[in-house]
Amino acid sequence: LSRRVPEPAGEDEIAQLARTANATLDRLESAVGRQRQFASDASHELRTPIAGLRANLEDASMHPEDNDLPAVVEQALHDTDRLESIVTDLLLLARIGTGGTVAQEPIDLSALAAAELGRRTFQVKIEKELAHGVTVRGVRMQLVRLLGNLLDNAERYTDRVIAVETFPDHDHALLTVTDDGVGIAPPDRERVFERFTRLDSARSRGAGGTGLGLAIAREIAQAHGGTLRVEDDPRGARFVLRLPLAPPEA
Ligand code: ADP
Repeated sequence: LSRRVPEPAGEDEIAQLARTANATLDRLESAVGRQRQFASDASHELRTPIAGLRANLEDASMHPEDNDLPAVVEQALHDTDRLESIVTDLLLLARIGTGGTVAQEPIDLSALAAAELGRRTFQVKIEKELAHGVTVRGVRMQLVRLLGNLLDNAERYTDRVIAVETFPDHDHALLTVTDDGVGIAPPDRERVFERFTRLDSARSRGAGGTGLGLAIAREIAQAHGGTLRVEDDPRGARFVLRLPLAPPEA
């Protein structure tokens, strides 16, 4: 793959063609590299609960008298749950964007946020400011999932307040989720969207996080022609989703 085309000196068409070919090869090579890395990270993540499961069951089968069966079963179920959520998230990640003809419908982001906030119960205070005029075109299930991932994280990192806001901005609709927890330092603000990145591994794994939540959320935002970023906020972490407004109905 990495065999590059010789680039003749000069500016003629052949030289330009050779440069374009090499640039394409470079992009392809880095895409393949990312794919390999992903496969290797995914295997590693899956191996951890499998190893736990195996050790636990082996021990129980070799020393049945030393083991409390209900506790062994409970631990095995916990590991199985974890495997299941990783596999579910991996499949979801693989599907988003390649969905081809997923039906898009007009979705009012404020109504969607109100419904999701109403459906959940929170241990923390929720402040919401939901504006009119934030209708986008999208796949409802995916946008609910995106918001759900942001809310899950916010709840994990604060025990005080989560603020949810929607508002129009020129030809875009914005949805922000802000918590007043530990926040995310500027150098980590891109990294958190990478698959399996955890800034605080013990806390996040303990809480059942797969490390895929934000990767999925960003993938969904991009499949909708939008962006998802972390922005500065004096309170803590602030996630900003920006989606193109739906064109007015004809
Ligand atoms: P998970 O939460 O499953 O670990 P995510 O992709 O959702 O995976 O998040 C990746 C990492 O980003 C988290 O492990 C955490 O370190 C950091 N993070 C996400 N949301 C927040 C937040 N609201 N405040 C502080 N850190 C966060």
